[in-house]
Formats: sequence, structure tokens, C-alpha cells
Amino acid sequence: MICNHFIFETTLRGFPMIRCGNYRFSKDFCRGVRTRWRCLKRAGCPGSITTIDGEIIKVKNIHNH
Ligand SMILES: [Zn+2]
Repeated sequence: MICNHFIFETTLRGFPMIRCGNYRFSKDFCRGVRTRWRCLKRAGCPGSITTIDGEIIKVKNIHNH
């Protein structure tokens, strides 16, 4: 499945996440202004997003589920 519509959201617990279709990405780590997001669905899924200053600059839209 390919999606190109990314929505920044906050979970009920207050954690930031990015939603893209049925996939959700949670914040993995930050380095300076660069933030890495990982697919929330399954451990080991290679899906990830990189943002700089809140702008999506890189999407690895490959999922194993
Ligand atoms: Zn995934």
C-alpha cells in the first residue's frame, strides 16, 4: 500500500505521531532538528519517516505487514 498523505497527530497519551493511511509512525529519536519516526505497527518493520523542523524530507514506505 502506498500513501502520500501524512498527518501529524498526538496520541491520547500525548505522544506525537504521524499517520499515513493505516500506518502510524511514532517518534524514534531526534538529532538536532532532524527527527526519525518508526512504524508503530510491528517491531522490525523497516517503514520510517525523517523530518527536519516538522517537514517530511524522507519516507521509507516499505512495510512487512
Ligand atoms: Zn510498518
